[in-house]
Amino acid sequence: MSSHLETILAAARDHANDVILPNVDVWNTKKTWPREASDKAGAAGLTGLYAPKEWGGQGLPLSEGIQVYEQLGLGDGAYAFALSMHNICTFAGCGYGTDAFKEGWARDLTSGRKLANFALTEPQSGSDPMKMYTRATINDDGTWTINGAKAWVSLATEADIYFTVVKTSDDPGHKDMAMVAIPADAPGISFGPKYDTPSYNFLPLAEMNFDNVVVSEDNIILPIGQGFQGALMAIDIARVSIASGCCGLMQAALDTALSYSKNRKMFGGKNLDLDGIQWMLGEVATDLEASKLLYRKAAEALGTPEGPLMAAHAKRFVPDAAVKAANTCTQVLGGMGLLQPYGLDRLSRLAQMLRIVDGTTEISRVVIGRALQKRAAGLPDLPVPKGYGETDENDANIAAE
Ligand SMILES: Cc1cc2nc3c(=O)[nH]c(=O)nc-3n(C[C@H](O)[C@H](O)[C@H](O)COP(=O)(O)OP(=O)(O)OC[C@H]3O[C@@H](n4cnc5c(N)ncnc54)[C@H](O)[C@@H]3O)c2cc1C
Repeated sequence: MSSHLETILAAARDHANDVILPNVDVWNTKKTWPREASDKAGAAGLTGLYAPKEWGGQGLPLSEGIQVYEQLGLGDGAYAFALSMHNICTFAGCGYGTDAFKEGWARDLTSGRKLANFALTEPQSGSDPMKMYTRATINDDGTWTINGAKAWVSLATEADIYFTVVKTSDDPGHKDMAMVAIPADAPGISFGPKYDTPSYNFLPLAEMNFDNVVVSEDNIILPIGQGFQGALMAIDIARVSIASGCCGLMQAALDTALSYSKNRKMFGGKNLDLDGIQWMLGEVATDLEASKLLYRKAAEALGTPEGPLMAAHAKRFVPDAAVKAANTCTQVLGGMGLLQPYGLDRLSRLAQMLRIVDGTTEISRVVIGRALQKRAAGLPDLPVPKGYGETDENDANIAAE
């Protein structure tokens, strides 16, 4: 591990311990994004992880920078998720943005002075982004006029710029899609009421509406034809980032359970002396080790042909393991596991949220299933014995019926 990465990971761990954990319950009660905390994250180098140093970023490769969310996830998975989306947008802006965009925004984004988020989902299109309709019309002077609505926009009203996927024609499919960075203060943007979420209320989520919003061509991040592929790449990075954050969440749940269990007296000993409890926590520990290996391998595959499949494996496996870990650790504490100060109920709800966001567990299964079908097509045929299903005779009978 490079010393630069070590420094950044230590900064992320300190941020989780000193800034997130002591305050997250208050943030949730106040229901407001802790801007002073994200300012501190920026000062600690956590808001420009993959952006080049020339723009004020840390210049880390994805495979390394993604480990930051494991540390932030020790504090809170929703906070880690929001910073991961900011970092992905910052990476896209610094990598693919126009020179004018970089001049105007890059340093503010890498420093965390300004926050970015990604807007793809719409009220009628989550898992199926082909059904999106937010539409950009290209004007004679090169500006774009945008109309439509996005849903589940994280950092709604708080982000300073929204990296938004739009269609540019009525044609079905994705060939006309582009990604444009829309500043929050552009006339015509409005937000719906904030969603009321149970355990991550500090993360503002809402619908965002565009009513003839005019955007400069300087803000086109991915031109027509590249919007969908770019969005998929961003989502792959997000999936692995979420898996990384889930590992921090699992570690936090396990440590809470161990800290309690080693002291809880029962049956002449301690709760942690019971074989059954050790086995339960042992499974959590094994799942955590497997999850770390999987997300790190997936992070190394990003940008290669294996990237999407590995990201799907990580997003399929790790949040499920995190849900199981949070619930198991709650069970180990008995009734105490349900009480707010122990934080385990919050971790269970966060883990469930992380199963959904940026492509559900089921969508990961779809990606994996398609890869299996491709692999099957390249394998030799293994004939099914007569009497076990699809024989010529059966096919003929079925056709006759
Ligand atoms: C906390 C949070 C923050 C978010 N932040 C953002 C954001 O900042 N920007 C953004 O663009 N989006 C964001 N999202 C949206 C998120 O990415 C979507 O919620 C997600 O993609 C699922 O879409 P959906 O909620 O519309 O569910 P739907 O697509 O309606 O799916 C409903 C159910 O059907 C299942 N399903 C779908 N297809 C299949 C299939 N082929 N086989 C089996 N089951 C299937 C799904 O798994 C799910 O269980 C956020 C969501 C959450 C919860």
